[in-house]
Amino acid sequence: MKNEALQIGRYDIFVFNDGLFEAKVEYLHHLDGADACASAVERWGKTSVMLDVNCFAIRGPDGDMLVDTGAGTAWGPSFGHARPAMEACGFTPETITGVLLTHLHGDHAYGLLNDDGTAFFPNADILVPHADLAFFGNAALRETVPEARRGGFIVADKMQQAYGSRIHSLSAGPILEGIEAVPLPGHTPGQMGYRLHGEEHDMLILADALHIAALQLADPKLGLVFDLDPVQSAATRLATLEQAAQHRWIVGGGHLHGFGRIERAQTGFRMTGL
Ligand SMILES: [Zn+2]
Repeated sequence: MKNEALQIGRYDIFVFNDGLFEAKVEYLHHLDGADACASAVERWGKTSVMLDVNCFAIRGPDGDMLVDTGAGTAWGPSFGHARPAMEACGFTPETITGVLLTHLHGDHAYGLLNDDGTAFFPNADILVPHADLAFFGNAALRETVPEARRGGFIVADKMQQAYGSRIHSLSAGPILEGIEAVPLPGHTPGQMGYRLHGEEHDMLILADALHIAALQLADPKLGLVFDLDPVQSAATRLATLEQAAQHRWIVGGGHLHGFGRIERAQTGFRMTGL
């Protein structure tokens, strides 16, 4: 399948699917409690939700960058499909000069690494949201976090060993002409989305602010156990969906299927095509 880029401002944006993640319904939680969660699960009627795992490539006048990397080879043979797909579009490890991470979870960052733990991208600087670097870089905090939410500490450690001084702490605001980092905290403390300014409409790569479009669009209070702060996650999700609908932004995400737009629906929101 040919991967078509979307042009936003001075950039061409590609989305690459790295594999599918099976989110079991036991991973769900609901801000209104167990009963609300159980009825959402009942309405869904299946035992799991299959989620795309995505990363993005951005080609611009200053070169090639990625937003996230997929899981690389760390999550077994059902992942790692983004690498050959990127190569087919001319994004080789050598041509990538920057990787913007949305947050420090394995499905977004393990593609930074070779099997032996060395850097997969020999020429890239790695930009990491500052609050994720501070949090997941602090090993003492590991024990304070439930087991299902600890993956980021291991990712931070491995990334540090592979990239060292090529890791840079990223704050909210402009990064390059036409690209800005937008804080989307909750899923992790520092999660950032990336907003690209277009002539007609902007694009927001909303990271994991919206995980499970099939369920959370209609019910934004529904979350996954991987959300470090469920209350903040839901607030971020709702605010992001409202803004995306209001401004007709094109959206892409770590676990959405391709690009689309957000509209208000009778209950909550829905995602439409472009
Ligand atoms: Zn994710």
